[in-house]
Amino acid sequence: MKKCVVIGSGLAGLTSAAYLSLNGFQVEILEASPKPGGRAYSFKDSETGSIIDNGQHIMMGCYKETLKFFNLIGARENLILQDRIKVNFVKENFNLLPLQASGLPYPLNLLSALLNYKALTFKDRLLFLKFFLSLPFVLEKDIKSLSVYDWLIEEKQNENIIKAFWEILAVGALNTNIKKASAVTFAIILKEIFFRGNKVATIIIPKLGLSETYCKNALSFIEEHNGKINFGEQVTDIKFSNEMVFEIETTKRKITEFDFVISAVPLYALEKMLPEFKSEYNFELTYSSIVSIHIWLKENHLDELFYGLIGSPVHWIFNHQEHVTLVISDAGEFVNMSNEEIFNMVATELEKYVKIAKDKIISYKVIKEKRATFIPSKEILNTRPKQRTPLQNFIIAGDWVNTGLPSTIESAVKSGRIAAQLIIG
Ligand SMILES: Cc1cc2nc3c(=O)[nH]c(=O)nc-3n(C[C@H](O)[C@H](O)[C@H](O)COP(=O)(O)OP(=O)(O)OC[C@H]3O[C@@H](n4cnc5c(N)ncnc54)[C@H](O)[C@@H]3O)c2cc1C
Repeated sequence: MKKCVVIGSGLAGLTSAAYLSLNGFQVEILEASPKPGGRAYSFKDSETGSIIDNGQHIMMGCYKETLKFFNLIGARENLILQDRIKVNFVKENFNLLPLQASGLPYPLNLLSALLNYKALTFKDRLLFLKFFLSLPFVLEKDIKSLSVYDWLIEEKQNENIIKAFWEILAVGALNTNIKKASAVTFAIILKEIFFRGNKVATIIIPKLGLSETYCKNALSFIEEHNGKINFGEQVTDIKFSNEMVFEIETTKRKITEFDFVISAVPLYALEKMLPEFKSEYNFELTYSSIVSIHIWLKENHLDELFYGLIGSPVHWIFNHQEHVTLVISDAGEFVNMSNEEIFNMVATELEKYVKIAKDKIISYKVIKEKRATFIPSKEILNTRPKQRTPLQNFIIAGDWVNTGLPSTIESAVKSGRIAAQLIIG
C-alpha cells in the first residue's frame, strides 16, 4: 500500500486525504493546530456557549468540486441550498430591495431578477443589463490589464450601479477592493455564476457551525478509510535530494516512510518548511482581512437568513436566530481598530440598516482574520504555481495554487482533488 503524507487539514488537505484514502492509499495528515479546518472552522464561544464560526462562509451552486466533496464525505445535508437565487439587499431604514429570481425558466428568471432590482433606477437597470448580457462574450485578453473597477467604468457602469450591485458581489467573492482585484478573475466568476444554469447562481449556507458542517464528516471518512490524523504536529522542515523529498521533520519526530507528500498549507507556511520554494518560484502573495462580529440579541426580529447592505462598511448580516454575524470583507482599515471601536461602529450600522437598537444587544465577539484570503490582483493572474513541483513525489495544494479561482473554499477543494488525482494517476 502506497503511503502519502498530507501537511495541513484545511479544506485542501482534507479533500486530498479523502480522495487518496478512498483510492486505497495509506494517508497520514500532519496538522500544526489542535483542530482541523484551517481558515474555515467553528468553536464554542466560552461566554455564551454558542457555536460560532471564525468567519461566516457562503458557497454557491457553482462550487461543483465542493459539493462533490461534501457528497463524498456525507456532509451535503448540512447545507442550506436555495432553489433559486434570492439576496435581500437592504438600504438604510430597513428598506429591503430583494434580488430574486422568478419562477420563469432559466435564464429568463435571472433576467427578470435583474430587471426588477429596485436598488437601481430604470435607466441604470438597462445599462446594467446591457453589460450583463455581453459577459459571455468577454475575452480574457481584452481585460487582462484591467482592475474590476476599470473594467466596470469602461463598460459604462456608473457609481450607483457599482455601489448597489457590482461592488457588493465583487468584494464578497474576491474579498478585495475592486480597484485592486483583477477583472479577469471577476469575469471568470461571473460567467460561472450566471451563465451555467439556474442552480449555479444560488447561494449555499452551512446549516451548522463550520466544523460540524464538514470537518467532523471529513475526519470520520478519512479514518474509516484507514487514514490517520495527527493534530498539534507542525512540519518544520522538508528535506530533499535528487528531486525527491526523503524526510519530513515535525515538532515531534522525523518521518521517512512515505511515497508521496502533499503540502496543503498557505504559501507563507510552505516557505518556512521549504525555503527553496521561494527562490525556485519567486512568487509573492498579498492578503486581505475579514472581520466578523458576532452579536447576541435580547430579541431578534430579522426573518431572512442573510442581508447584503448597500453603502455600509458592513457588507453582510447573517441571521443565526440567537445571534447575528456581521461581516466586513476587505477589512484592512478595521483590523487595527480596537474590538470596542469596531463594535460601536457596527452597532450604529445595525440600528441604521435593520433597526436593531444598541440596547437590544446582550453580548458581542469580534474575530479578525488578517490573512483571510490572498488578493487576486492582475499581477498574479498567470504566475500562480502549478501543483506538480520539480520534486517528483511532492505536490502542492491550497486555495492559492493555480486553480484559476480566487481564494475560496472551491479553490481549496479543487486543489485538493487535483493533488490527489496527480498521485492516483
Ligand atoms: C473569515 C473568512 C471568511 C471566508 N469566507 C469565505 C466564503 O464566504 N466563501 C469561500 O468560498 N471562502 C471563504 N474564505 C476563504 C476560505 O476559508 C479559504 O479559501 C479556505 O479555507 C482555504 O483552505 P486551504 O486548505 O487552502 O488553507 P487553510 O484553511 O489555511 O489550511 C491550511 C492548514 O495547514 C495548517 N498548517 C500550516 N502550516 C503548517 C505546518 N507547518 N505543519 C502542519 N500544518 C500546517 C494550518 O494550521 C491549516 O489548518 C474565508 C476565509 C476567512 C478566513
